[in-house]
Amino acid sequence: MKPFDCHTHIYDDAFSADFEQMISQAKKVLSGIIVVGEGPESNRKITKLVNDNPEFLFAGYGIHPEFAHEFTEKEIGEEIKWIKKQKPVCIGEVGLDMMWIKRVLPKQIGIKKADEAWPKQQKVFERFIELADELKIPLNIHSRWATKHVIETLEKLKPKKAILHAFSGSAAEARRAVALGYKISLGTSIMYAEQKQNLAKRLPLDTLLLETDSPVLAPVRGQRNEPANVALVVKEIARLKCVSEAEVIEATNKSVKEIFNII
Ligand SMILES: [Zn+2]
Repeated sequence: MKPFDCHTHIYDDAFSADFEQMISQAKKVLSGIIVVGEGPESNRKITKLVNDNPEFLFAGYGIHPEFAHEFTEKEIGEEIKWIKKQKPVCIGEVGLDMMWIKRVLPKQIGIKKADEAWPKQQKVFERFIELADELKIPLNIHSRWATKHVIETLEKLKPKKAILHAFSGSAAEARRAVALGYKISLGTSIMYAEQKQNLAKRLPLDTLLLETDSPVLAPVRGQRNEPANVALVVKEIARLKCVSEAEVIEATNKSVKEIFNII
C-alpha cells in the first residue's frame, strides 16, 4: 500500500523543467496526489494536469486567502459557476491568512486596503464553505495566524467535511476541529517543526492525513519540495507514534477514502 499526498501545487513553475520525471518518481511511492488551486489561473492549469493523469492526480479548486481581495464579487461568482461544471474532489485552497494581512499586504497595497482585505477574506472563505457543502465535497483549508478565526468559522457554519492543511494551532485547537469530524493534514515540515511533531504525537492516527504542499515546505528549508517526500512524513509519524509505517499508511488512506471518496 502506498501513501497519498492531500495537498500540492505541482502546476507551479518550479516543476516546469522536470514535471514528467517528478510525476514518475511520485507514482513509485504514492497512490495519488491532490492538486489545489489558488485562483482562476492555477485552477485552469490543474484541469489540464488532472485530465492528463486521471487515475493519479485529483483536483481541488478555490481562491487562496492571499488573493481573495483581488477579486470582485462578480468574478468570484463566475469562478464558482466554473467550479460547479468541473469534477473537483475538494474545494481548496481556501481559508484565512492573518499573516498576509498584517505583514505582506500593507507593503503591497497600504495599511487601509490591507485592513479592508480581512473581511473580504472571511466572506470569500464563507462562500467557498457553502460551495463545498453544496457539492458534497470537503474543504482543503489554509490557516495562518488565524487558527481562532478558522475554528470559530467552522464551528459556526459546520461544513460537512474538511481537512486542515499545514495547521499551525495547538493540539487542543486541533481537537476542536477533530470534534467536528475534520482531519488534520501533516506535511513535510514535520521534519523540523516541533509544533507539527506535537500534533502527530497527541492526535489519534485516524484523524491525520499526509501532504507535502509542494513545491514549498520542503523537509530541508530552502529546497524544492516534491510529492514523493510524503514517504518522509510517514516515517516521522511512525517514529513519533511508535507504530509501523504500514499502520500510518493504512490509517491515512482509510481517511482519504472516507473524506475524498477516492483511492
Ligand atoms: Zn498550499
